[in-house]
Amino acid sequence: MAALRGQQNTLYIPSSVEQEISEYMFHSLPQEACGVVLGEAAAGGIRISRFQPIRNVAPDPLHHFQLEQVEWIRCIFQEPTLIGVFHSHPRTEPLPSLEDIHSLPTFAGMLNVYLIGSPIHPSDTTSHNKMNLYAYEIQSTAKAANQVNEGIKHTLQPLQLCMT
Ligand SMILES: [Zn+2]
Repeated sequence: MAALRGQQNTLYIPSSVEQEISEYMFHSLPQEACGVVLGEAAAGGIRISRFQPIRNVAPDPLHHFQLEQVEWIRCIFQEPTLIGVFHSHPRTEPLPSLEDIHSLPTFAGMLNVYLIGSPIHPSDTTSHNKMNLYAYEIQSTAKAANQVNEGIKHTLQPLQLCMT
């Protein structure tokens, strides 16, 4: 979403949506959970309105995520307010992995927001667990023309997350 550029990039999330994502993540354990978030531009950033879970069809869902293709394509075409993708790291911090960075071209151009959630206490399996949710902005920059690998470089920049 171009409106995000040049603003104070804050991501607003209603506590009810955060709760929904958290419950889905814990429900999906020990597998990684994934889905998309819908939203719209807001003063000073972007506001999430809804979470839409999508089935994780990765061959190894304990350590990877892959959005189920039909549901993902339906979201691209039927959800005009699609803004971001979510997945969980059940056993590690919600920091982008090398694989996450490598798969950014799948989402860049369509999405601005990249969310990763982790259980705060991975070894604690009680339902009272809380989620650590980190937000990033997908940034795409053209590589310098004199570089060997020409093309677009995608990175994740931390976004301030504000619960409303
Ligand atoms: Zn990841």
